[in-house]
Amino acid sequence: MIYLNGKFMPIEEAYVPVLDRGFIFGDGVYEVIPVYSRKPFRLAEHLARLQHSLNGIRLKNPHTNEQLHALIEKIIAGNAADDQYLYLHITRGVAKRDHAFPAGVSPTVFMMSNPLLIPPRELLLTGVPAITASDNRWGRCDIKAISLLPNVLLRQLAIDSGAMETILLRDGFLTEGAASNIFIAKNNVLLTPPKSHLMLPGITYDVVLELAQAHAISHEVREITEEELRTADEVLLTSSTREVMPIVSLDGKPIGNGKPGSMFNQLNQLYQQYKAVTMRA
Ligand code: PLP
Repeated sequence: MIYLNGKFMPIEEAYVPVLDRGFIFGDGVYEVIPVYSRKPFRLAEHLARLQHSLNGIRLKNPHTNEQLHALIEKIIAGNAADDQYLYLHITRGVAKRDHAFPAGVSPTVFMMSNPLLIPPRELLLTGVPAITASDNRWGRCDIKAISLLPNVLLRQLAIDSGAMETILLRDGFLTEGAASNIFIAKNNVLLTPPKSHLMLPGITYDVVLELAQAHAISHEVREITEEELRTADEVLLTSSTREVMPIVSLDGKPIGNGKPGSMFNQLNQLYQQYKAVTMRA
């Protein structure tokens, strides 16, 4: 069961007019919220980021957070899996094709939820390969915009070369992955770039930094050079659907000893514990 503009229905019955500005211009924003044991994880943070994205495209939120929460609860209840990933999408609505914002148009609001398939344990034991590419996206990567063509092309580069993720470099510095945030470990210090217009402020990124802080893991939030990325002891990716994953090679060259390291093992364990505690609360 999905939600579209005030109605719940099977996905096969959900249609959006071709003049929807999401379809025509990619004029909209979205969120992906993991749901564990039927509870949305870090919901307040996801809704705050949604508001940030809406502010970024100057679109008034058509719902209060209480309304969104109620809709989200209904979607979760209407889907069979206990662990889900919920997709929430808002566009500027349907209007005659014209770049300028239309007047008097209601936003299109769409939500669906699907079973959450977290990465198999084997991948956490072996780690995954990644490639690097030049970050050719726009200057507002902090907005979770539905116009994802650069991310689609960058991710496909990884798939085409048998890798799991494309890690992006802009002007010689690490930004993030095509659909993830990136951390490195060097000499037992966890490092990640600071939030800026050049990366999505990841919800998982925040959780990992909070865990590092709470458990006295040395960490620094600062710019990371390409050289530091390539000579790191460990590289990790984080995202809502892939949680924390170890990257063990970059452009075909091993990172550190080419195996998941102690920083990954520690953070992954803390992340799993945190998830379990949050879900019981
Ligand atoms: N960066 C990009 C470009 C993403 O698409 C994502 C998530 O899909 C992330 C980072 C990670 O964000 P989060 O941890 O909130 O899922």
